[in-house]
Amino acid sequence: MSDQVRTRFAPSPTGSMHVGNAHTALFNWLFARKHGGTVVLRIEDTDELRSTPEALDVIYGGLTWLGIDWDEGPDIGGPCGPYVQSERLERYQEAVNTLVGEGKAYPCYCTPEEVEERRQIMRAKGLPPKYDGKCSSLTEQEREALEAEGREPCIRFAMKHTGNTVVNDRIHGDVVYDNSLCGDPVILKQSGFPTYHLAVVVDDDAMRITHIIRGAGHLPNTQTHLQLQEALGIPHPEYAHLPLILGEDRTKLSKRHGAVSITEYQDLGYLPEAMFNFLSLLGWSPGDEREILSRDEIVSLFSLASCNKAPSVFDLKKAEWMNGEYMKQMEPGQLVGRVHPWLVEAGLIEEELTPERREWLVKVVELMQERAKLLSTYPTWARYFFTADYEYENRARSKWLDKESTPDVLDRLTAAFEALDEWHVQTIEVAVRGIAEETGVSAGKIIHPCRAAVTGTTIGPSLFHLLALLDRDDVLARLRRTAELSRQGKLAPATDNDGGA
Ligand code: GLU
Repeated sequence: MSDQVRTRFAPSPTGSMHVGNAHTALFNWLFARKHGGTVVLRIEDTDELRSTPEALDVIYGGLTWLGIDWDEGPDIGGPCGPYVQSERLERYQEAVNTLVGEGKAYPCYCTPEEVEERRQIMRAKGLPPKYDGKCSSLTEQEREALEAEGREPCIRFAMKHTGNTVVNDRIHGDVVYDNSLCGDPVILKQSGFPTYHLAVVVDDDAMRITHIIRGAGHLPNTQTHLQLQEALGIPHPEYAHLPLILGEDRTKLSKRHGAVSITEYQDLGYLPEAMFNFLSLLGWSPGDEREILSRDEIVSLFSLASCNKAPSVFDLKKAEWMNGEYMKQMEPGQLVGRVHPWLVEAGLIEEELTPERREWLVKVVELMQERAKLLSTYPTWARYFFTADYEYENRARSKWLDKESTPDVLDRLTAAFEALDEWHVQTIEVAVRGIAEETGVSAGKIIHPCRAAVTGTTIGPSLFHLLALLDRDDVLARLRRTAELSRQGKLAPATDNDGGA
């Protein structure tokens, strides 16, 4: 099969890319890459939405961020274009003409209100609320009469109403649909636009798609697609319906659960490679306990047979944990490249770094690396490395800075630091421990107020290391300022509280 696999990702240009869509794109990509196949990007804009450059950019941007590329698509073309459905209308019309000509589809003159009214009656009678087939057997005269009334028809596909349709799904196995429950779907709207069912079947064939990998929400649609393929004399592609993605309360993942578009994850400070890894484990597993896997490993281990049919839960905590693991594993020098834009954006550092400044930044990033879970953590948790303009967290005030003994501790620190010949980790540590000994308290009683004063927080990386990365004069100024404010009881309550690392 290896050089013939063709998969497609077929988003509608809604203006955002739901993580479910990104997940579908990823699995199509994985399957195609695994088999040396082709990934087609097709824009499905025959519903209410017409593709706009902005909506396309959201799709391209989301995929590109995740590192999912495509081999054919609207932007790069290919042998089966155009790849935007609204540019392919004549093909759908042609298919409709064939179906109508062969008596496999028919014009329907019912208004949506009439259809709905009759559905209500069926519901009330406990019958499946499907289209009742009213227009399926109109005579030529009846049609003419309806048209004379000014009614414009849509076209419905005549489904089979007896027997079963069996979807042979690569993930769900054989799924049997009872044909008697299904009404005749509209395939061409009054506007001349096809519906999803027709467009998808025509295009998947025209684009020679071999494997249709999409969300489980589309599984019931496959009943119609299989019958349309038969009616059009088109071969059936393989189907694989990916498990639904649920929120932690096991309802369909939606805005209520937090960020649902892939761009939001980018904006929250996720690394694309971590998101890629995380999404790949929704509904698939490598067959062992491993969770951190490289792209290449995922591609080589991926198979539809190892996908689950049970819905998977989008566990945000796990996503964050995984991102943290990726950040920990990165070379600090490489991580700096990712963190720097976030700091620039926050106005904390200059865009152009001198080699010395970059070297310093590598050390800062390295020091925070164990703790930071997201790129966005740096401008917040590490703010004090870049500016003395930080807030004193309420916890820092109540635990340490509001204490009567604190100004004295800070004064001692100021004096000891000022007196140091050299400013580095060891000399700082000796000075701090010296004060503890002198005053007969545990080192913590000196370390904590010092951290609270110099960083505004109660937690963070090694105090001696972080102080060594700050300019000594800056540290002295921070200690003096805090001592003064503490003495005067003027430490302001924090607005954004207790977020520190
Ligand atoms: N445009 C459809 C969607 O966004 C694609 C459905 C399919 O893959 O067949 O859900």
